Amino acid sequence: MNQRGSIHQYLRQQRDLFGDELYLNKPTTNRPAMIQKDHESLSLESFGESIRECQECPLGKSRTEFVFGVGDPKANLLLVGEAPGEQEDLQGEPFVGRSGKLLDKILKAIGRDRNKDVFIANVIKCRPPSNRDPLPSEVEKCEPYLKKQIGLINPRLIVALGRVAAKTLLKLDVPLKDMRGKIHSYAGTPLRVTYHPAALLRNPGLKQTAWEDFQWIQKYIHGES
Ligand code: SF4
Repeated sequence: MNQRGSIHQYLRQQRDLFGDELYLNKPTTNRPAMIQKDHESLSLESFGESIRECQECPLGKSRTEFVFGVGDPKANLLLVGEAPGEQEDLQGEPFVGRSGKLLDKILKAIGRDRNKDVFIANVIKCRPPSNRDPLPSEVEKCEPYLKKQIGLINPRLIVALGRVAAKTLLKLDVPLKDMRGKIHSYAGTPLRVTYHPAALLRNPGLKQTAWEDFQWIQKYIHGES
């Protein structure tokens, strides 16, 4: 039978089975499989490379350096700040400068450093001009990158550093003291809130409270909280 005959026969069979309605097989898609494969095979480093030239929001034009994050790609502790500042924008690394040095001291006190058992990132990857808070439209564009990082790192705990990071992640507009001391959840991972190191430099009276937070964090990571 030629091709035309085969089509006629197929249509006759379809009419016998289903009447005048014609049912076509929907093409199958392998997209979910592709997503899964992508998730399984993509390393944190190659993900960073893949978004390094991002221009999804206007901050892509004004940045000096894209700031993906730094640390152990399999860390059980993920620290998240709001956005790169001036030094971070120049050096392409989060939490450098005075507040970064203080954060390094705190991490050392709990037996970690920025390359060991910790990953440090920001909610958004490019510096907002004059260190202003990120705009909701910028967060909307950039937050999926953080969620992807969390999926790849799979930390046991996320710690939001400072009120802006915490309120951005938790979508809560309340004072930091009302978010501290509780276990929240972000993207399916427990999240704790503590002070930004810059706040500790401005107000050393907060250091004891922050230290208590980090002691709790250390215990939690070791399954003791
Ligand atoms: S802030 Fe985020 S969304 Fe905006 S350009 Fe930078 S990487 Fe892209």
